[in-house]
Amino acid sequence: MPPLAAHIWPVSASIGQHGHLHIGGCDVVTLAEAYGTPLYLFDQATIRAACQEYRSAFAQAYSGETIVHYAGKALINTALVQIIAAEGLGLDVVSGGELFIALRAGMPAARIHMHGNAKPRAELQQALEAGIGQIVVDNLDELAILAQLTSGCAIPQEIALRVAPGIAPDTHHHIQTGQATSKFGLPLASLDSAAHMINAAPGLHLAGLHVHLGSQIFDAHPYAEAIAVLLDCATRLQANHGITITEINPGGGLGVPYLAEQALPDIAAYAHLISNTLRDGCATRGLALPRLSVEPGRSIIARSGVAVYRIVGTKPLPESRHTDPSAQRYLHVDGGMADNIRPALYQARYTILLPEQADAPAEEIVHVAGRYCESGDILQRNIALPKAAPGDLLAVATVGAYTLSMASNYNLTLRPAVVFIDDGHARLVQRRETYADLASRDV
Ligand code: PLP
Repeated sequence: MPPLAAHIWPVSASIGQHGHLHIGGCDVVTLAEAYGTPLYLFDQATIRAACQEYRSAFAQAYSGETIVHYAGKALINTALVQIIAAEGLGLDVVSGGELFIALRAGMPAARIHMHGNAKPRAELQQALEAGIGQIVVDNLDELAILAQLTSGCAIPQEIALRVAPGIAPDTHHHIQTGQATSKFGLPLASLDSAAHMINAAPGLHLAGLHVHLGSQIFDAHPYAEAIAVLLDCATRLQANHGITITEINPGGGLGVPYLAEQALPDIAAYAHLISNTLRDGCATRGLALPRLSVEPGRSIIARSGVAVYRIVGTKPLPESRHTDPSAQRYLHVDGGMADNIRPALYQARYTILLPEQADAPAEEIVHVAGRYCESGDILQRNIALPKAAPGDLLAVATVGAYTLSMASNYNLTLRPAVVFIDDGHARLVQRRETYADLASRDV
């Protein structure tokens, strides 16, 4: 039997009776029958473990104050925000919609930060009215709007400045965000203008400096470079504008393995690198130790998620398959790019198994095709699987991040049900969409 690649599947995954995939003590096959497919399952133990690992890694590595903010863009729903809040994390939101769900779920406003390169004025107003902890300002135009909106406020709104540090980590160009040409972040050359505007805005209090380099980053060294850039900015702000920076935030972006041969990143080592760089960099520049914030998204939620699809049909590939020499046929499943656009968007790779025969040896190479009307809707190419037939289930690991949060109703399909599993107990946290939902906006 091919053993489960333990670091790819949720921490509670196992192969149970009849060779079925189990998560959190629940049989995935039974859950698919009960809730239908496509189905997104999340293991709460995996989510909690990731939150705790981050919190303790930074608490141990850094002698100053640390705060871990979960980046809600990776996945956000009411039940998840409640877990994140209970684990003591803060939350980053990037829209009024995410803010609405965060507050509805009971996340304290003080623990919410708002990001975004194009925050509409109404959403900035919404954030101010909610009294959120921090707005991370992305550009001078946003700063001007915020200065205006807060001009009459008795208590200044805490802000941070996101700068574009001119660092491009080794990851897919679609998920690089720290390079100077990125659409995100204030050019370093605009820092002095920002400082003048802030000093003239009584409603704003600049506390932090922020960078986010990108996502799916495995080499932590670019974070050290980024911290050096931020500390140089802090020195400049102090010397030229009398502004004392009290928070440094190197963003999120730590990678996760999607395939058995990829290693699990060492969160403790990453925390030490960031903490030591910050401590030493402050000492060299004569700066007081700031609060250290980080914003992981993917590495908190990706591994907890498993997508379950039903195979609805197959198609043999011709003998002369010039482009795909190894695959013998397509397996067509009942989901695809509308619930997980990552393979179509940037050729993301995944680990797949058949949950009804999770311990069976591979017998053929297949392409797993989504149901959507795009030739690019191929969930995975050249996957080795046991023999599958229409009606069988297929499970995809590590789908917690940037799947449902990017989901659409393309082809007017229904967005999947979401079930959270904890210690043998499954609960529906988001019901499958209905045709009535599809019609609900049509006037
Ligand atoms: N912080 C910011 C500002 C981001 O834009 C993102 C993702 O794009 C994150 C944090 C989270 O990144 P990741 O999910 O890769 O950890």
